[in-house]
Amino acid sequence: MDNEAQNASGDQRSDHWARLDAFLQTDPRDAGCDEAMEMLDVYAELLAAGNDPSERFPGVHAHFLACGPCAQALEGLLSALQGPASSQPAPP
Ligand SMILES: [Zn+2]
Repeated sequence: MDNEAQNASGDQRSDHWARLDAFLQTDPRDAGCDEAMEMLDVYAELLAAGNDPSERFPGVHAHFLACGPCAQALEGLLSALQGPASSQPAPP
């Protein structure tokens, strides 16, 4: 019977469900971009000083893991705090 084949329409939704699944896998502690940007200075200074800010700011930590742009901002600030990387060629 051809009618049975028409009932198998679930495949078209798989992409939709995959996105929803990814959304639901976001860390519930994720503080969001606003709070991450607010704490960026403090967070980077703690990291630069050799501390682990993830215990004090678990929500912000979760956000840096989940949000590419914020993670890049943290990375940029951190490298600025730590000075020029040793891998960079020294000026003549
Ligand atoms: Zn963000």
